[in-house]
Amino acid sequence: MDLRDGQTQPILDPNQPTHVYHLALDIGGSLAKLVYFTKDDNHLVDGEEGVSHRKTLQKCKDSKQHPVLNGRLSFKTFETSKINDCLEFIKSMKLHIGGSQSQENPGSQPIAIKATGGGAYKYADLFKERLGIILDKEDEMDCLVAGANFLLEVVHQEAFTYMGDQKQFVQIDKNDLYPYLLVNIGSGVGMIKVEGEGKFERVSGTSIGGGTFWGLGKLLTKCKSFDELLELSYRGNNRQVDMLVGDIYGGMDYSKIGLSSTTIASSFGKAISDNREREDYKPEDIARSLLRMISNNIGQISYLNALRFGLKRIFFGGFFIRKHPFTMDTLSVAVNFWSKGEAKAMFLRHEGFLGAVGSFMSSDKHGLKELLAKDAVQKSPSKLSFAVDKILRSLSDGECNGDESIECSVYAA
Ligand code: ADP
Repeated sequence: MDLRDGQTQPILDPNQPTHVYHLALDIGGSLAKLVYFTKDDNHLVDGEEGVSHRKTLQKCKDSKQHPVLNGRLSFKTFETSKINDCLEFIKSMKLHIGGSQSQENPGSQPIAIKATGGGAYKYADLFKERLGIILDKEDEMDCLVAGANFLLEVVHQEAFTYMGDQKQFVQIDKNDLYPYLLVNIGSGVGMIKVEGEGKFERVSGTSIGGGTFWGLGKLLTKCKSFDELLELSYRGNNRQVDMLVGDIYGGMDYSKIGLSSTTIASSFGKAISDNREREDYKPEDIARSLLRMISNNIGQISYLNALRFGLKRIFFGGFFIRKHPFTMDTLSVAVNFWSKGEAKAMFLRHEGFLGAVGSFMSSDKHGLKELLAKDAVQKSPSKLSFAVDKILRSLSDGECNGDESIECSVYAA
């Protein structure tokens, strides 16, 4: 990819399908994720952060690096079942033609957009029909790993631990990143041992994942949206539904094998002993119990796979997590408990966008990736934590989200 000063479009080869580098997609079983880069010069002049950013630019200029694109890397999600909304969004933003103000040229070569996930196959005809674009398919696992590696290596404060209400950012040393276990909790769960750039193996997985939580939760609580279900789980008490060790041992611990009275002996186990119908249980307690059951299970399987390959770090991604404190805490406690503190659970700020970022990076394996990986410059951490707050707040609005953007610049050395 050849990006020169002041140009927002790549140089195009008339003999090839036109590639637009600004947009990439990951269309999964539940959600369609978009990552797109838009040019934005304004931040160079307004506000303090703008000034410091300008200083950074100056420094880069002094070191003979040239800013090529200044703008935002934006992240957006749509429910896959509402793929038409996604198409409309792309159309209204003109993302499929590189944000260009000019009209699409009907006589020109079809534009190709990088896309991964099953939907890249399922909806290929629809994208062609409605937007006149070809979905240039990339392998899902390749993208997932490439996205995780990129975010962990490049994005400031991407990884963090979360346990007992304590969130702590982890400074990742690029030279000490591998090996690690990547656990992607989407509709289903994939577990991948990552040993380096492009060096990975899918070692396990489980079908009991985010789709199970949302699907079962919908049936059991009559929630209308995922966010409603998540919101319910905040308020619930799983002890009303789960059978605890104390329920079996008359309120006592089973201390001989280290199980406290509050340990869950059987998820949903209380429902069998009571003469109660589903309606007699509070939906929030059911939601809480379900979330705990699924998160615990994933945490335990993750730990077993980490143990299998001697991996000490487990990074959890996928949109199931949604930065929900309870989910992250449950996963962390499970990993910590089973590994006796040997393995560590970590989370990613752009948890749901690993595949989409990987797809974006694949636009030009030898150009954009190199440029971004070496020289992406971000704004101050305060701005980034604002983005995280935004995601949490959006839960109460009932919006499907995870939408945010990072300001960044791309430099050519
Ligand atoms: P996939 O690629 O399989 O769609 P994702 O990483 O996008 O996987 O995660 C999908 C999961 O995210 C869903 O199964 C659900 O548990 C959760 N999720 C988070 N937000 C939403 C939402 N707004 N609508 C539906 N599912 C959501």
